[in-house]
Order: sequence, then C-alpha cells, then structure tokens
Amino acid sequence: MAEMAVLVDVSRCTGCRGCQVACKQWNKNPASETCFKGTYENPPDLEWNTFTRVTFREVEEGGKLAWLFRKDQCRHCVTPPCVVIPDKTPMKRRDDNGAVVADQSMTLTKEEFDEVREACPYDVPRYDPETKTVKKCTFCFDRQEAGKKPACVTACLSGALFFGTRKEVIAEGKKRVAKLEAKFPKAALFEEDVVGWIYLFVHGDDKYGMNFDPSKRLAKVALG
Ligand code: SF4
Ligand code: SF4
Repeated sequence: MAEMAVLVDVSRCTGCRGCQVACKQWNKNPASETCFKGTYENPPDLEWNTFTRVTFREVEEGGKLAWLFRKDQCRHCVTPPCVVIPDKTPMKRRDDNGAVVADQSMTLTKEEFDEVREACPYDVPRYDPETKTVKKCTFCFDRQEAGKKPACVTACLSGALFFGTRKEVIAEGKKRVAKLEAKFPKAALFEEDVVGWIYLFVHGDDKYGMNFDPSKRLAKVALG
C-alpha cells in the first residue's frame, strides 16, 4: 500500500459534523454530556473518546463576516514528534500507509502520557484514564486494510475530505487552490510537506483557531 493522505478542504466544509458522528460510530466511542456555551462546537475539545471534531470561528474580513469551519484531528505527521521525542511512547508510524497509531496494549502513567502530548505540535493525543492508554485518530487503518476509505471521508458528502495517495492528494489540493485563488487570494495548502492530513485554507492559517506550536514541528527526515 502507498503512503496515504487526506485533503481537508475547508472551502467545501459545511460544518455538518457528519464526519464527527461517523468517527464516533466506527470507533464505538461514547458521547460526552455537554452544555451550550454560545458556540456550535461540541464537544469543546478533542477527548479520549472524540478523535475528531469540527471547530467554528467567526472572522471579519473586508467588512464581511465569514463563518469558518475546520475539521480537527491528528495530522499523521511524516516525521511525528510523538513517535520520536518522548522517552516512552506507544505511537508508531505504519510503514504501509503512513498512519500514526497509538499501541493500545501499552499502558502509560499520566506523567509518561504528558510527555507524549507535549511533543505534539497540534495538541492531539488524549489519555484514557480507565485503560491508561493513549487515544487519538487511527486514520482508520483497519478500514484501509479492508480497502475502505476512513469513516469520516465516507460520511462527508460535500467533497471537503479527499482521500488518496500523498501524491494524488497534493495534486488535487494544488488544483483546487488554483481554482479558488481568484475568489480567495489567500487560498493555500498548509504544511503539505510535513503532514499526512493536509489543510486547504482560504482565509489564512491563523484564522481557523488552530492550537498549533510550530516550534515543536520536526523537519521531514527519515525515521530510524
Ligand atoms: S499530529 Fe500529533 S499525535 Fe498526530 S502524528 Fe503528529 S505529533 Fe503525533
Ligand atoms: S462531514 Fe465534511 S462537510 Fe461535514 S463537517 Fe465534516 S468535513 Fe465538513
């Protein structure tokens, strides 16, 4: 199997959250009880039982209000800091498709987990206090083994999520950027060299409420 990737094209995202529901269903993750806090974001953050969620941001540009949706999840980094940096880590990058997966047979103390979470530039890993394992998006590697697309991609009807080989995804992203540029001069791919889940942003990457620390990002180097 080739190294796989996903384009997350925010220009086509309707904020329907079908991807969130599909992820919950496939991974049999229970819902959390939440309450309304003035935003449609729900739950308010990634959790051990929520591997993906859609963020909502309101921004003003040129006197117009824009409502920006962004599906958040593990980026399946090409050189994942969560695999390389912590002293003890359950994270492994699969050779067959590039999915970064947390080994569910490895238990961690909370302190060991904190090192794993701290290493991630996007604050993705979460701790399951009951099983003492690390939880996050698996890139549906089990579905991929069965020849299927990730559950979220299958559920997304707007074309916001495009799954393919890295080469196909980057080519599709560049094609879409070229079409969008006339209407959105800031349209661009985000970090296509270093991650497997590549965003296409149209309002500038600082407008989507990303929890991102670029100083933690590792250069694209071969994994030992
Ligand atoms: S986004 Fe974070 S958890 Fe996912 S592969 Fe990269 S470093 Fe690891
Ligand atoms: S299913 Fe697609 S359109 Fe709906 S919120 Fe998720 S990414 Fe956006």
